[in-house]
Amino acid sequence: MAAQETVDHKYVYDFAEGNKDLKDLLGGKGANLAEMTNLGLPVPPGFIITTEACKAYLATGEEPAGLAGQIATHLEALEREMGRRLGDPDDPLLVSVRSGAKFSMPGMMETVLNVGLNDRSVVGLSAQAGGNDRFAWDSYRRLIQMFGKTVCEVPGEEFEHALDEAKRAKGTTNDLDLDADDLRGLVDAYKKIFVKHTGREFPQEPREQLDLAIRAVFESWNAERAVVYRRQERIPADLGTAVNVVSMVFGNLGPDSGTGVAFTRDPGSGAQGIYGDYLANAQGEDVVAGIRNTVPLQELEQLDKKSYDELLAFMARLEGHYKDLCDIEFTIERGKLWMLQTRVGKRTAAAAFVIAGQLVDEGLIDLDEALHRVNGAQLAQLMFPRFRLDHEFQPVAKGIGASPGAASGKVVFTSARAVELAAEGEAVILVRRETNPDDLNGMIAAQGILTSRGGKTSHAAVVARGMGKTCVSGADEIDVNVPAKRFTVAGQTVNEGDIVSIDGTTGKVYLGEVPVMPSEVVQYFEGSLEPEHVDNPLVRAVHRIMSHADAKRRLAVRTNADTGADAARARRFGAQGIGLCRTEHMFLGDRRELVERLILARTDDERESALAALLPLQRDDFKEIFREMDGLPVTVRLIDPPLHEFLPPLEQLAVNVAVAQERGEDVAKEEALLAAVRRMHEENPMLGLRGVRLGLVIPGLFAMQVRAIAEAAVAVTRAGAVAKPEIMVPLVGAVQELETVRAEAEKIIAEVVGDSGVEVLIGTMIEVPRAALTAGQIAEAAQFFSFGTNDLTQMAWGFSRDDVEGAFFWRYLELGIFGISPFESIDRDGVGRLVRIAAEEGRAARPELKLGVCGEHGGDPDSVHFFHEVGLDYVSCSPFRVPVARLEAGRAAVETHGSDSR
Ligand code: PEP
Ligand code: MG
Repeated sequence: MAAQETVDHKYVYDFAEGNKDLKDLLGGKGANLAEMTNLGLPVPPGFIITTEACKAYLATGEEPAGLAGQIATHLEALEREMGRRLGDPDDPLLVSVRSGAKFSMPGMMETVLNVGLNDRSVVGLSAQAGGNDRFAWDSYRRLIQMFGKTVCEVPGEEFEHALDEAKRAKGTTNDLDLDADDLRGLVDAYKKIFVKHTGREFPQEPREQLDLAIRAVFESWNAERAVVYRRQERIPADLGTAVNVVSMVFGNLGPDSGTGVAFTRDPGSGAQGIYGDYLANAQGEDVVAGIRNTVPLQELEQLDKKSYDELLAFMARLEGHYKDLCDIEFTIERGKLWMLQTRVGKRTAAAAFVIAGQLVDEGLIDLDEALHRVNGAQLAQLMFPRFRLDHEFQPVAKGIGASPGAASGKVVFTSARAVELAAEGEAVILVRRETNPDDLNGMIAAQGILTSRGGKTSHAAVVARGMGKTCVSGADEIDVNVPAKRFTVAGQTVNEGDIVSIDGTTGKVYLGEVPVMPSEVVQYFEGSLEPEHVDNPLVRAVHRIMSHADAKRRLAVRTNADTGADAARARRFGAQGIGLCRTEHMFLGDRRELVERLILARTDDERESALAALLPLQRDDFKEIFREMDGLPVTVRLIDPPLHEFLPPLEQLAVNVAVAQERGEDVAKEEALLAAVRRMHEENPMLGLRGVRLGLVIPGLFAMQVRAIAEAAVAVTRAGAVAKPEIMVPLVGAVQELETVRAEAEKIIAEVVGDSGVEVLIGTMIEVPRAALTAGQIAEAAQFFSFGTNDLTQMAWGFSRDDVEGAFFWRYLELGIFGISPFESIDRDGVGRLVRIAAEEGRAARPELKLGVCGEHGGDPDSVHFFHEVGLDYVSCSPFRVPVARLEAGRAAVETHGSDSR
């Protein structure tokens, strides 16, 4: 019985049997050919072999049972419909054999045209074409060439050489000068090449040609370039390709024939109109190969008005049917228009928004659908400034496009100089071999960052992306000499103060100033739109779709911000509060000295005096932030990193001490610092004395911060604003840790807040796996949870977040252990499961528990959908990501099922 079932399995579909929703089974090309057929458009008849047949073939190396018979049945039907038999010597039917996967993989897999030609049917083809011998022999040589290369792995250059040789013998460089005799000679030459490489004659049997071509298309699914492309585009590796067998139509039968591509709207800008190219007397492959220049589609009107009008009518019909931009391939054979392909067309980010808006205006789609049609990655692209490269600029180096955008400015080599020049109003590009946390101020001050080392996950890259700052990393042709304040590249020396331009999208580096265009979309978000942009179709579309996203989304969007300026910007971008204010940067700069005093304190008095000196500074920090976020919640996290991170590095201190001793200077303080650094050294600082552990070990530290927060809130509230502080304890793993900190904090809060009306919430980060697994207990002591998915990922996988991405993730990606770094996009199965458990158990213990996320994942489009599904209340992300998160939260709310918006 099993054999019977296999035979009955349907592997082949006639075009009339399919439709556009069968992409999984019929591939994109086949499903859309079927759809056009059923719409009554002139599609050359044909049939589709399913992706399931391909998968079965790839799994076993053999065609599945029943496939050959089904092909025969469909071929016979096709022959009846066309009134010709495949390869008939007198009047041959010829077919093309084309790949077509669910997702478009342009040029990655194989196609064989003119299947059915042989030594005898070439004569019949000539007769069919009105005695056009040249056309028939040209078609035959193309078959041997494509078949040889694709099906039998004959090196393509051999055919190219033979063609060049034929042209040389003729004294020409143009294929079109070869006549029928020349091409007949070329066919002989090609056949010899075929025999030489395959050990057999070129197959003359049409059905054998067809079967071998189908196999070759199946196998091309696993061709190396297809594998690489899928990895890059994140297309699953197990989909397989369908195979389309389509009767051939010819655009190269004379001046009344031709071929072209058309778009129903401009895929670059989204503008309405007729866009496309046409090439008379040619086949599609000539257009791709760029042998001759195409003409704008509009010129077809003069050449063949009937076909032109018909094409326009079909385009309108398709757009109305697909309710989207379509791209189309067509051929005209002796004045008869044939539709060879259509699909929902790829487009730029700007066009995606504009078209979605237009389609709503035209009543073709509603706003929910418009929201589904755009995505956060596109919005992010629209937010970066870009170079106006209409002038001729040559890059001098190319690194990794680490954080998109375009920036020009004076070269500086130190953070301090960047800050200095920026304060004078100069645009600067900070150039370093690599950056480290001490460069932060310089990075903030600079327009862009250029490093000669490091990849997409280097410090410079990560921090720059967080700030929405342009960054090119790993431009290794650049030789940076910081002490000499210069770098050399391509034989040129660039000194401090010279101007360079960097493109964080392409990774290209230019000398001199390339003019930039500000992004209108950012101006719109910031409320500072230049008047000429107010009516810009892109801005209008963004406004409309974002408003709809805001109306629909259930997730609130907060921001991660540590300064008043960041908070203010994020608020303009739509942030509904601060989800993470990291307090550690407030201990840097001129406050380092106080931190040193704190660390070196030998008595309670010394420690308390250092903390007392820090208190008013912290209070001012928080006041500024509360003022900016007037009326909105602000989650302030108590200090997290190990304290020795605020001291100079061990080696530097050791050198300083040695040098000072040599000079006979007083080194008591440096020696004490050095001793402290040695004492505090940890083998695994990420798992050491940090977070809540610091608060439990260093008396008064958390208390000082809690007091500063409460006092700032009261002061701001008394001045007429509304402060809504939420104090967050990091790195909690056990409820007892939180209870201890909380008891102390509550006492201070009660004392400070008095009758001011200020309410201070106390909650915790969930970033240690044990916290997630004991969330029910922890919720008893927490008014909110915020998932710290950076540390949670680090500890769930046991991956050091500072090291692994650059070190070996390439191998994990190559092996498909994950398709994207789990630090970038939430690992739903593992880390995500911890989030789900903690959310459920936390809410079960305390139904009003507020839930958010403040790790990097809060601004990652895919992760936002996950957090929506899990039922969090908000996501929090860097200011530049706030609009992206708003959009994706809206999309998550309107999409009941996963999206295929690739
Ligand atoms: C986290 O761990 O996800 C987090 C937000 O905290 P940090 O990145 O500061 O460790
Ligand atoms: Mg953390």
